[in-house]
Amino acid sequence: QQNALLQQANQDELTGLPNRRAMRESLDALLTDPHAHAPRVGIVVLNIDRLHHVNDSLGYGVGDQVLVEVANRLLRHAGAQGCTVGRIGGDEFLLVKPLHADGIAALEAIARDTAHVLAQRYVVDDQSIYVTCSAGVSWSPDAGRDAAQLLGQADLALNIAKQRGRNQFVLYSDERSADMADRIVVTQEMRHALQRDEFELHYQPVVDAVDGMIVGAEALMRWHSPKLGVIEPSRFIPIAEDTGMIVRLGDWALRSAIAEIGSWQKAGRRTVPLSVNVSAVQFQRPEFVDDIEGALRDAGVAPGMLKLEITESVVMEDARTVAMRLNRLKQLGVRISLDDFGTGFSSLGQLRQLPIDEIKIDQSFVRDINDDAYAATLCRAIIAMSQQLQFTVVAEGVETAGQARFLVEAGCQSLQGFLFSPAVPAQVIGEWLADDARWMLDGSRRPRVSGAGAQLDGRAALDRDS
Ligand code: C2E
Ligand code: MG
Ligand code: MG
Repeated sequence: QQNALLQQANQDELTGLPNRRAMRESLDALLTDPHAHAPRVGIVVLNIDRLHHVNDSLGYGVGDQVLVEVANRLLRHAGAQGCTVGRIGGDEFLLVKPLHADGIAALEAIARDTAHVLAQRYVVDDQSIYVTCSAGVSWSPDAGRDAAQLLGQADLALNIAKQRGRNQFVLYSDERSADMADRIVVTQEMRHALQRDEFELHYQPVVDAVDGMIVGAEALMRWHSPKLGVIEPSRFIPIAEDTGMIVRLGDWALRSAIAEIGSWQKAGRRTVPLSVNVSAVQFQRPEFVDDIEGALRDAGVAPGMLKLEITESVVMEDARTVAMRLNRLKQLGVRISLDDFGTGFSSLGQLRQLPIDEIKIDQSFVRDINDDAYAATLCRAIIAMSQQLQFTVVAEGVETAGQARFLVEAGCQSLQGFLFSPAVPAQVIGEWLADDARWMLDGSRRPRVSGAGAQLDGRAALDRDS
């Protein structure tokens, strides 16, 4: 009787296969067995795609029969190739196989054959049913040394298979899991970084294409983590967006930039509008506009000094809400800039209906402007279109004098890029503004100019190069 109980605890009732618990135990045993003859153990976690469709349309009875048949096919095919087969969830199965020298190739072949076998027709109550499966594959010791680690890595690979559209299998990869581990560490550190004052806003000048003066600056976040070193926005912003932390971070950036303008105003300095990047997550919050209005009021800053950079992904969201919010910002007097233009799919028709002031040509097009006819044509077209629609155009990522020249000749009004300056601390921008700094189109900077010679200087630099 005790045996019967034990069997119940370890067996899946429907299919008679070992259940999750039993599979974990035997996997752990296999991994820790000092007498094991195989140097590695491979596992395949299989998920039947959209089994709930079968359940919903034909009933659970039919779904159950499909699962029983799946179990039989797995036993017949994978079992024959030395795999232990178990059912570890409603629509999830596990194959475990000791591997020898050719191990991973063999494991991959098993995953492929299994998917093929499971995709064949099922007949239940005279009805033909077809299902597919997604699978994640991992193996010891690369992916881990115990059952939990191997299953975790296989699950990760399975999720990627599902994201890629199902009906496929994905192998565990070192880089992918290193990437995941990196995300976890960055996420943990970021939770404290704001209180610990580890973030800083730097500002990259935007330069007028005709006279080389600073016409604005873009606030860009910098993170110095004492533990991880300097972390690039491209690494932490996507994580902050996924975890929702961007709301607090973004709010901090907005308030800091607004405070900066306020302090310039108080000091009686020449000020230029500051641009702040806004993520879709921030923009979607109902409080967004009110918060900005409050922050401007608190700091006593004219709304026209603030520019918000949004991306096409924001514009593509629920069109009516977006238009409403943008119109409220417009009424306030805040300016709107469309960042990374050309990388998304917004249409001209959409843009025309939105109160946008400025378009920033994405740096990927600027980069290739001098040696790729397509990029050049595209930049010209964006500039021409923007003139028609009365948007200002800023070119981002200008690195060479050749690029600057092309853009100026094409009619682009403002330039931003390493040719002029990377993002610098606010204080430096403040000094440049106080000194009336201006740039030549070859990227050199003059601290101060006076009188009419200024513009000629700029032209002269342009002419010399051409
Ligand atoms: P972005 O808004 O398109 O910002 C421009 C990026 O291009 C910045 O990178 C800037 O340093 C870089 N860049 C400027 N000139 C050049 C150049 O000549 N050549 C090249 N190769 N790159 C140039 P950064 O600072 O690493 O920021 C990357 C992205 O992170 C930004 O792209 C923006 O999407 C995001 N980001 C930065 N700060 C914030 C923030 O405060 N809030 C939000 N939501 N996103 C931010
Ligand atoms: Mg930007
Ligand atoms: Mg950009």
